[in-house]
Amino acid sequence: MADCLFCGIVNGDVKGEVVYQDSSVVAFKDIKPKAPVHLLIVPRKHIATLLDVEEGDKGLFGDIFFAANKLAGDHGISQDGFRVVFNCGEGAGQSVFHIHLHLLGGRAMTWPPG
Ligand code: AMP
Ligand code: ZN
Repeated sequence: MADCLFCGIVNGDVKGEVVYQDSSVVAFKDIKPKAPVHLLIVPRKHIATLLDVEEGDKGLFGDIFFAANKLAGDHGISQDGFRVVFNCGEGAGQSVFHIHLHLLGGRAMTWPPG
């Protein structure tokens, strides 16, 4: 999708600190990390928000969460606990409209989130 920042990172037009990629997803470091480990896992396919997910996209979410599992291990946060978050819509804090799973860890987390 033209003018989408995360499509730009996926296709290499925008520089990103990519830490993992496969045929379905790309993961890279968040540019303004909110925790010692803060990665974003995005599908290669442009989907604006969770509300735009279609029946045929269901398998993508297995790919995204399987990547999160692997990355939590690779980045040393699986034992102490970590958080995964999809923000959906501006009211929830979504600022980039290409869905992305935040993977945060390396510090204590509070609940509920702000
Ligand atoms: P959200 O607010 O849930 O839409 O999350 C968007 C995230 O993208 C924020 O945590 C930003 O810090 C992050 N972000 C914005 N631009 C970039 C970029 N060029 N590379 C990596 N992360 C980015
Ligand atoms: Zn996109």
